[in-house]
Amino acid sequence: MPIDATLPYDDTNIFARILKGEIPCRKVYEDEYALAFHDIAPQAPVHILVIPRGAYVSWDDFSARAEPAEIAGFVRAVGKVARDQGLVGDGYRLLANVGPAAGQEVAHLHVHIFGGRPLGPMLA
Ligand code: IMP
Repeated sequence: MPIDATLPYDDTNIFARILKGEIPCRKVYEDEYALAFHDIAPQAPVHILVIPRGAYVSWDDFSARAEPAEIAGFVRAVGKVARDQGLVGDGYRLLANVGPAAGQEVAHLHVHIFGGRPLGPMLA
């Protein structure tokens, strides 16, 4: 069910519970700013989600409220995960769904990393 990305952060969402260690994940990377893990329903040979440790509903919320160090740390983490997965040569795709029109389902910012196959044209 798509979420309303303008609502206040609710720390019972599934990614908040993964961050708290209440729910397991297939972790690929973590640091003080970010956690990365395999998507439970992969849509490409590599499909990883990168989430900030901070409590942000969406990219909109994060870009408006996060401290510069959090933004820099998160962006660096996304790039590092893609490099560490060996995706840079053949290329990869980043995606962040924001709100109902984009079908965002989990109310904690997540950036999808897709790779490992030709990804085709972007869907508008
Ligand atoms: P969204 O549509 O951009 O919000 O994407 C949510 C993503 O989270 C989907 O690709 C789901 O497959 C993924 N997902 C949902 N629950 C879990 C989980 O517990 N672990 C890993 N991925 C999950």
